[in-house]
Amino acid sequence: APGALLAVQGAGLGVPLVGGGWAEYANLDHAASAPCLTAVAEHVARVLPYSASVHRGAGFASQVCTTLYEGARRDVARFVGARDGDLTVFTRNTTDAVNLLARCLPAADAAGGVVVFDVEHHANLLPWRARAGYRSVAARSTLAESLAALEAELTAAPTALLAVTGASNVTGETPPLARLARLAHRAGARIFVDAAQLAPHRHLDMAADDVDYLAFSGHKLYAPFGAGVLVGRADWLDAAPPYLAGGGAVREVSTDAVDWATGAARHEAGTPNLAGATAIAAACRTLAALPPGAWERHESDLRTRLLGGLAGLDGVVIHRIWSDPEATPNSAGGPSTDGGRRTRDGAGAWQDAVGVVTFSLPGHDPARVSAYLSAEHGIGVRAGRFCAHPLLARLGAPGGALRASIGVGTTDDHVDRLIAAVARYLRVGPGWDYALRDGQWQP
Ligand code: PMP
Repeated sequence: APGALLAVQGAGLGVPLVGGGWAEYANLDHAASAPCLTAVAEHVARVLPYSASVHRGAGFASQVCTTLYEGARRDVARFVGARDGDLTVFTRNTTDAVNLLARCLPAADAAGGVVVFDVEHHANLLPWRARAGYRSVAARSTLAESLAALEAELTAAPTALLAVTGASNVTGETPPLARLARLAHRAGARIFVDAAQLAPHRHLDMAADDVDYLAFSGHKLYAPFGAGVLVGRADWLDAAPPYLAGGGAVREVSTDAVDWATGAARHEAGTPNLAGATAIAAACRTLAALPPGAWERHESDLRTRLLGGLAGLDGVVIHRIWSDPEATPNSAGGPSTDGGRRTRDGAGAWQDAVGVVTFSLPGHDPARVSAYLSAEHGIGVRAGRFCAHPLLARLGAPGGALRASIGVGTTDDHVDRLIAAVARYLRVGPGWDYALRDGQWQP
């Protein structure tokens, strides 16, 4: 039975219950923000004494900071399987990275438009929608039909970029990236993968999957808030105007001219976020150093336990985008090696999704259920529309749903507590009405 795979900050944290007691927090809200790994917190504590400016000084502390920052860039590039020559740009988060790439895209009349599925997080939807040539493909009820519709759209008009989620922040489903990359490239387009939810659950390999661009956020990858990355091909990034104008993004400035830098520095004006970058790198190194198979087993065991428990309750609906997980094995018909994402677990079920599960209790307000789970049981889940309004509408939950998401600090006890608490809500919860005021749950 799984215990925590890695030590995280906040394990054993107490949260207040109705009636004044306390419970050990069961964090099942990793998809929003994951707790910081203890190894990451310790690394950041060793970095913080060197509060000198990156790239700006010849003194010892400044050079330590520059070495740490550039080393962090290399560690992140290795973690995602970047190619030689790819740039790794530190950003504020995934949203910032997508907006950066959107600004670097060649003009639509020259290069073509951007194609997305309608199941995306708003971060991978709205920056593209503002561009000329934007086209959205409605996901069908099966992945096979969705891929066919996508292929038709990619070739229907000139396309510069296919922008897809690596793992849905709502259902956890993981579309086959290598196949999507082939579809995009055959149509003369590039592919961008929003890996905000994929990076915290799977080993990535941009080179093997032929992914051109990829982004993720540190705060979902067991690092603190405030830093993310965009990794990918240099040519568009080097040709575009700098994301921000300012110091550090230039080679030379005179009173009336600027020679902008190329490379990652072009889009990183201002003093870099050394703590954020080195924290992400520490998280990447820690996850990459897990024994082979350990991460996958921990996640698969907990996800199977969670799905099995919820599916066993009358009155719970589990949401999925695609109904055909078995319909797309690799060409050999057996467990796919498509980036390691589509494999069979021990029970023979396809693992075509990460540990993010969204469900509804029809007839019950998700926000109320979420408050109940916290107030009566000390369990953290997310309620709402998950910044994916079009997807929630197509799943038949336009008013929102509940999401439980697991991470490396999750234990079987957390999952079992959630299942028992949902079962209890279905029996005794309706009519329950408390709200948190002044740090206490009050009727
Ligand atoms: N994409 C996906 C799939 C996400 O889940 C999120 C965060 N919920 C984002 C993008 C945006 O990440 P951030 O808020 O860190 O920019």
